[in-house]
Amino acid sequence: MSAPLAIEGGTAVRTEPFPTWPVYDEREERNLLEVLRSGCWGIGGTKVVEFEQRFAAFQDARFGVCVPNGTLALQMSLQALGIGPGDEVITTPYTFIATASAALQQGAVPVFVDIDLDSYTLDPAQIEAAITPDTKAIVPVHLAGRPADMDAIMHVAGRYGLRVLEDACQAWGASWRGRKVGAIGDLGCFSFQSSKNVSAGEGGIVVTNDEVLAELCWSLHNVGRVRHGAWYQHEIIGGNLRMTEWQAAVLLAQIERLPEHAARREANARYLAEALSEVPGVTPLPWDDRVTGHAHHLFICRYDPAAFGGRSRDAFVAALVAEGITTASVGYVTPLHRNNAIRRSVAANLARAGRAWPLTADGLPEMPSCPRAEWATQHTFWLAQNTLLGDQEDMDSIVAAVRKIQRAWG
Ligand SMILES: *Cc1c(COP(=O)(O)O)cnc(C)c1O
Repeated sequence: MSAPLAIEGGTAVRTEPFPTWPVYDEREERNLLEVLRSGCWGIGGTKVVEFEQRFAAFQDARFGVCVPNGTLALQMSLQALGIGPGDEVITTPYTFIATASAALQQGAVPVFVDIDLDSYTLDPAQIEAAITPDTKAIVPVHLAGRPADMDAIMHVAGRYGLRVLEDACQAWGASWRGRKVGAIGDLGCFSFQSSKNVSAGEGGIVVTNDEVLAELCWSLHNVGRVRHGAWYQHEIIGGNLRMTEWQAAVLLAQIERLPEHAARREANARYLAEALSEVPGVTPLPWDDRVTGHAHHLFICRYDPAAFGGRSRDAFVAALVAEGITTASVGYVTPLHRNNAIRRSVAANLARAGRAWPLTADGLPEMPSCPRAEWATQHTFWLAQNTLLGDQEDMDSIVAAVRKIQRAWG
């Protein structure tokens, strides 16, 4: 007889919460008070500039421009790369909506290429077939904090003269073969939203090694001003995408804590991956030696219903949460190429650009088929990054809960 599951009225494996997020200490408090008392809460302050320099250096990039969030970082970056109406941007369907909506808001069309199921990032082998004369850029996502295959992506981009914008909104400190992500391509974007491993509630940054792009981004984020120019000197049209000093005050303290957090996440992720791989039906994504730094924003596992008596992934995650693994989730449930808001926006942008595109019976544009991304939305579960800030007992409780469910159903 297996132990009764918590979801069926049994006793949960654990009732203690996992480490909460966000975390802060007197460093955030001190920095925030400094901003308050300085009277410089926006333009003219020192914290945003200091954070731009520190974060860019941390990512092995020469330049950084802070913006209000990761979504605007992506949209502004596409604008800086000259991507506009009718242009095509190759990206992954297994990501947060902003990766694609940023392109749509620029009037461009996201073209979805399927993922690789060992990394859940863009399958570089499928990129070339998606390139057309309208393709302008590739936007790889370093999903969960694991870098996409930047060797292959830079290679194909170079062959076709495409720009590369790295969506590194989950990848602070991540590195590919010893090189930090963000400035491997032309531009890279990071997010500091509430759930992210480095957080100010909201926030974002664009990094690059290209001085011309850096100055263009600076101008676009500051109503078209020129760095060191006059107050009413506007050479181009840009928005107001300036970060406040409050956000930078918090972020300066947050990045001091990141190396220690990253080490703890890495150690726990390795321990957990090894232990969970012993449980039938659960497969943590395999390690790749080329990933020399993984941010572990998410801990991703594939789920095989056959080892769980045919129970769905959703049923499994509900049972896991009931056992006290409250940071477990089903993750993205709709691949972006199946999202009708995206399909309607693709249709509108194509129409505006005077482009023909095959339609399906529902009157919306036919989308490329991405069977692996579809499979992933049904056979995946995640643990949030703060789970990995716990201790070994916390990791053991996750393994115990997964085992308990597998024994009950398998
Ligand atoms: C969080 C995130 C974004 C958007 O960042 P916000 O700061 O929330 O606007 C974009 N892409 C990915 C992959 C993300 O995880």
